[in-house]
Order: sequence, then C-alpha cells, then structure tokens
Amino acid sequence: MLRVVGCITQDYALVALACLVCLLAAHTSVRLLTPGRTDDHRQRAIRTCAALLTFGTGVWSSDLIGILAFHPGLPFSFDGPLCALPLILAIAAMGLLARRSAGWVSAFLALAVTVMHFTAMASVRLDLESGTALAPAATPKTVLIVAVGAGCFLILSLVLAAASTFDRYLTNRFAVEARRFRTLADAAFEGLIFEREGRIIDTNLAMRELAGTDAKALVGRPLADLIPGIVRQPSANEQPTEYDLFLPDGRRRPVEILWRDGPDRGSRVVAVRDLSRQKASEARTKRLARFDPLTGLPNREMFEQQLRKALALSDRAMAGVALLYVDLDRFGVVSEALGQAAGEQILIQAAQRLTAMIREADTVARLGRDEFAIIQSLTEQPTEAAALAERVVTEMALPYTIDDQPIGMTACVGVALYPAGGTAAPDLIKSAVLAMRGARDGGRGRWRYFEPGMDLLLRTKRSLGHDLRTALKEGQFSLNYQPFVEPATLEIAGYEALLRWDHPERGRVPPAEFIPLAEEFGLIVPIGNWVLTTACAEAASWGAPVIIAVNLSPAQFVQPGIVGTVAEVLRETGLPPNRLELEITEGTLMDDTQNALGVLTSLKALGVKIAMDDFGTGYSSLSYLRKFPFDKIKIDRSFISDVEDDTEAETIVQAIIAMSRSLRLDVTAEGVETRQQLAMLRAHGCTFVQGYLLGRPRTAAQLDRNTAKMRWPLTDNTLPRLVTPVAARSAERGPVPSKASAAHGR
Ligand code: C2E
Ligand code: CA
Ligand code: CA
Repeated sequence: MLRVVGCITQDYALVALACLVCLLAAHTSVRLLTPGRTDDHRQRAIRTCAALLTFGTGVWSSDLIGILAFHPGLPFSFDGPLCALPLILAIAAMGLLARRSAGWVSAFLALAVTVMHFTAMASVRLDLESGTALAPAATPKTVLIVAVGAGCFLILSLVLAAASTFDRYLTNRFAVEARRFRTLADAAFEGLIFEREGRIIDTNLAMRELAGTDAKALVGRPLADLIPGIVRQPSANEQPTEYDLFLPDGRRRPVEILWRDGPDRGSRVVAVRDLSRQKASEARTKRLARFDPLTGLPNREMFEQQLRKALALSDRAMAGVALLYVDLDRFGVVSEALGQAAGEQILIQAAQRLTAMIREADTVARLGRDEFAIIQSLTEQPTEAAALAERVVTEMALPYTIDDQPIGMTACVGVALYPAGGTAAPDLIKSAVLAMRGARDGGRGRWRYFEPGMDLLLRTKRSLGHDLRTALKEGQFSLNYQPFVEPATLEIAGYEALLRWDHPERGRVPPAEFIPLAEEFGLIVPIGNWVLTTACAEAASWGAPVIIAVNLSPAQFVQPGIVGTVAEVLRETGLPPNRLELEITEGTLMDDTQNALGVLTSLKALGVKIAMDDFGTGYSSLSYLRKFPFDKIKIDRSFISDVEDDTEAETIVQAIIAMSRSLRLDVTAEGVETRQQLAMLRAHGCTFVQGYLLGRPRTAAQLDRNTAKMRWPLTDNTLPRLVTPVAARSAERGPVPSKASAAHGR
C-alpha cells in the first residue's frame, strides 16, 4: 500500500517551499484586495484581477510543488499542457470575475482551486507497471521544482512590490490633490459646505468665517442646525435660495444658497453667499429714498404718501386734517453768514423741535432746504391747527444754539385745512405754501390760514409772468426818470431810471409787482440789460453831465458776465463811466459775499459808482457798509415818512447821515414828500434828496434836455404846498402830465 503522508515527508524542503509560496500568494492577494481611498471602478477591477491572478498562480504553484514533493517510489512525470490548464482556467475566469459580487467571486475562487487541484493531479503520470523512466520528452522533476519555485517566488515578490509602490504613489497623489483642493476651497469667497445625508462633513475657510465658528464645531452637525429650514435641492441648476444662517451668538446672517453635486456619490456641496452687505445697502437705499439724511425726517416723497393716507383715513373717520407748512425766515442769510455747518445745525434743531411738538398720529417732514411740513390728522379743526401753528411760531423763534452761541431765527407757517384747502394732496400742499407766503408778507414769525383768494392771486401772478415773456419783444416797457437834487440849491444831481410796464389789457403794472415775477421767471437779466442800455443811451444824449442811476436786481448782479455787460453798454452808448450809478440792495450781497465783493470791486474799477438802495430795510445794512466799497447809501423812504410823527425816526436818520459822512459816503434820502422833511434833511446835511416833492418819475420826453434848463425850475418858494402819497401815486398812474404842467410842478 502506498501511504501519501509518508511520501510527502520524504522532502521537507519542498513542503516548506510550497507553504511559503502559498503564504506569499495569500498575503499579496489580501494586500491587493484592500481598496485604496481614491480607487475608482477601474482601479478596483484591476486590483481584483491582480489579486485573483496572484492567488491563482500562488495556489497553483504551491499545489504543483506539493505534488513534486510527492515521492511515490515510482517514476512519474507531468503532462505539460494539462498541468498549465488550471492556470489558463483561472486567468480566463478573471475577466468574468471583475464585475461580479463577492458571492460570485468566492464561488469562482473555490471552483478554480478545485479544478486546479484535480487538473494538477490529472497531469501527473505514474508508471506503476513498468517502474521504468518515462519518455525522454517528459520534464525532469528537479528542473520543474526549481523553475516553478523560483518563478513563482519572483512573480509574487514583484507583484507585491509593485502593489505597494502603486499604493504609495496613489496615497501621495491623493495627499497632493487633497491639499490643492483644500487651498482652492479655502481661497473661494463663498462659503462651501460638503454634506452627506444632511450632515456637514467638511467646510471651507470662508464658510467657517461666515458661521463665526471653527471646523470642529461644524463637522458632523446637521446642516439644518446651521441653516434652519434648508431644503436639499436635487438639481444644480436651480435659482439661488435665500436663508438665514444662524450664528453661535444667536444673530442671523442673510445668505443665498446654491446646491452642487459633491465629489463622491451621495455627497453634495452647498455654496453659501453672504448677503449681509447687500441687504444693508438695500435697506440704506430704501431709507434714503424715504428719509432726509440730515434730519432723519421723512422726505417729500414719503410725506406725500403719508398725506394721502391721512386724507383717506380722515374721510372714513370723519375727522379733520390740517397741513402746516413751516418755512424758516431768512435762513439763507444766516447760513451764509455762519457757514453751512451752522445752517445744518439749525435745521437739525428745528426738526427736533417740530418732532417734539406733534402727537403720535401726526407726521413732520422736511420738504426743502429750510421747509418743513406737519400733517395733523384726526383732529378738531380749525381749533387744533391754530393752536399748533401758534406753538410752532413761538417755539421756532426760541434761540438756536450754535457753538454755544444763541442764534435768532423765526419761522412762518401756512395752514391749509382739508378739504377747504384742497381735496387732493398736491392741492393741499399748494394751499399751505400760499398761506405761508401770505404770512411772510406780513413779516417774520407769523402764521396764516389759507384763503381761497390766495389761489386767485397766484393764478394772476402766473398769467402775468407768462405775459412778461413777450413784453420785452413787443415794446411794452418804458423808462421813467426821477431826479435827485442837492437840498440846499435844489440843483439836479442826477436821475434814477424806473421801469414801467404797460400791459395791453391790465394797463400799467407796478414794478413792485412785476419785478419779483421777472426774477422768479428768470426774465430779469434780459429786461435789466434793456433798462441799462436804454438809460445809458438816454443819459448820454443829455447836454448836462448829470448822473443816471440804474437799479440792478440780485439775479443780474450774480450773473457771471455782469462786469463785461456794463463795460460793453458804456462803450456802446458812449456814457462816461463816472456818470453811471448802479443801485443794489442788500439782498444782492448776502448770497455769495466773496463773489459779490469781487464783482463790486471790478465794477468800481470801471469807474462806475455803487449805491446801496433801501438802506435800513435789511437785516445787516451796517455790516455790509463796512465790507463793501459803496459810494452812496439811499435811506429807505419808510424812515423819511416816519419823521413827522416819530422823533425816534429823525434820530435814526440823523445818525445814518452822520455815519455816512464819517465813512465819506454820499447819502440820498428817498421819498421826500413834504417841506418839513426837506427842512429836516437840509438841517442834518443830507447830500441828496429824492421824492415827489422834488419831482415825480417822468418820461424822457418830459425832461428838459437843455443844459441851461437842467437846473430844476423850482425854488423854495415854488415848491408845492403839500403832496400826499396817495394823491401822488394816483397822479403818477393817471394820464401822463403834459410837459407844461410838469414844468410847473403839477
Ligand atoms: P426804488 O428803487 O426804491 O425806487 C423808488 C421808488 O419809490 C419808485 O417806485 C418811485 O416811484 C417811488 N417814489 C419816488 N419818490 C416817492 C415819494 O416821494 N413817495 C413815494 N411814496 N414813492 C416815491 P417804483 O417806480 O414803483 O419802483 C418800485 C421799485 O421797483 C423800485 O424801488 C425798485 O426797487 C424797483 N425797480 C424800478 N425800476 C427798476 C429797474 O429798472 N430794475 C430793477 N431791478 N428794479 C426796478
Ligand atoms: Ca432804487
Ligand atoms: Ca429805494
């Protein structure tokens, strides 16, 4: 009997070699089957194939070596092609195995091992009968052992080495790629969250900054903790969705979110963009669109919206609404004098006072530079509006504090009641503005209700303004000349040119009415230029070298080419510059002191004289006298008319004359209507007098141009006994007096 164990134990070295080969094969296969972190499907297939090949080869080899270790005591050999069969079988099975499941792999592996074993055994040929050696073609056993053993060992070692090098390469590559990826992610402006099944698996730097926390606090947390209500979106192409990002301190940050596919199956990337700045700027823009940035009060747009609401509410509640239009008096002068910052301080304080005065249901808004408005809703009218207007006037007149200095300022208020002042918001506003202007006409710090007549006045004004546009073209303007004389000799020193407008339908319109309109409608410059040219041309034709005084409105004065215009007119008309006197009012100077000084200096450089008109009616006539190079002042006729029954007025006139003397300025007293006034002015040494007593404004044709007769034909004895202002005015507007009657002093 043949005992197999006995046979094997005859060659321990071969048994050991078989075991070693098998162990090596097993180790290599296991090593190959351990998947790398970065493996894709292809790499995993290659690994599986290589593992099976290795395992097959190893088992086959160890099997073969095992058989070689078998010493049956009989000659035996291998059938070459047959013994290679299991190997070929195993390799052929690999392709099939690559894509199969673990169960299939196990089954095929078992089949391969079994087939291998039996085919290996089948390839062995034992010659039991003859006991003689086999055909010389059979491979000798020793050669086989050495070849199979060495080959196997070599292949397995190489595979093992290759596998670990490949792994190391892959690991390195993974590390580099991971680092590159992290750098890229961290460099992104947007926050990035990598999530799987609703949990955060990684974040980039921007995201951690956005969330105000570190990676540790984020990884592993449910995404919905960070962004409550977040809905996982299937598609990557959808619109960004807005959410709130919850910060650790409890605050929320508005964000915009977009979903992207993640790097591996099942994971997603959430791109998170911070919207805080955008939202803040949107809010700021919204606020700016509705509120005044300086005072924080609603602006005109919001005010109108509030007014519409208040009117609608009033209709339903059957309660009254009043609109109070508040305008600061002479704010322009004050802010010009004290500077823009001080002006802004006044506006802020005014806004605070108004806000403190109103009830919760009311609205106060800033509508213009120094214009405010109050909507007083759901009130008992007109009593409550009157009370509020009274209060506004009183409290706005309290001193304002600028740099610890008290500054005086008043306001005028116009009150329009709904619906008497208008049923629509814009009409009501217009009415309140009209009422405010009406109040201002009465002086500073006053208030007034809107009255229907004001509307008519405005419409008349508008149509007059319209007619003014064509008046110049159609030759409706003319000039009157009023003399000013030396009080002692009654000799004529010059004439003041006064504009007249004969309206085709309305007749003569007083300049006090149309000059402000011409200024408002932007027509004063061409009209003023016409006056200047006409007056200069007229005066140049006179035989006597008397002065021609021309009134210059503020709009003309601030016009950039004014100095050039005057020079041009003088050149054109040939009038010597020292015969032209320009009369300007305080209002001309207050808008832009520096520029005004420059213009005045340039005009004086031409040789033209400058007179300050209506002296004493402004607010700071004295300070302007110090600042600007005047040649003359004209005392306003209100002082002169007061002289008779007001001893204080005489004192003031006397003081003005004395002061002008010390400043070496000429003084003209305007509006001299009585002998008594003339006597007083003579006594105080006034330089010139002008008024109805001495001569009314007359047309050029009515003037005596003869040099010899330029001396006023009146002496003290022939002066009219008395000319009352009323009589004078009606006489002036009446039919133009004949030359003869003018010459005899009317
Ligand atoms: P003003 O410059 O103060 O002119 C004097 C005004 O007083 C004239 O009124 C004149 O008719 C009037 N007047 C003269 N003497 C007496 C008097 O004894 N008693 C009374 N009660 N009034 C007297 P007028 O012509 O109606 O002009 C009014 C204002 O219109 C002028 O005041 C002046 O500011 C402006 N104005 C007149 N012509 C022009 C002009 O060509 N250009 C500009 N910019 N303004 C002009
Ligand atoms: Ca004047
Ligand atoms: Ca005047």
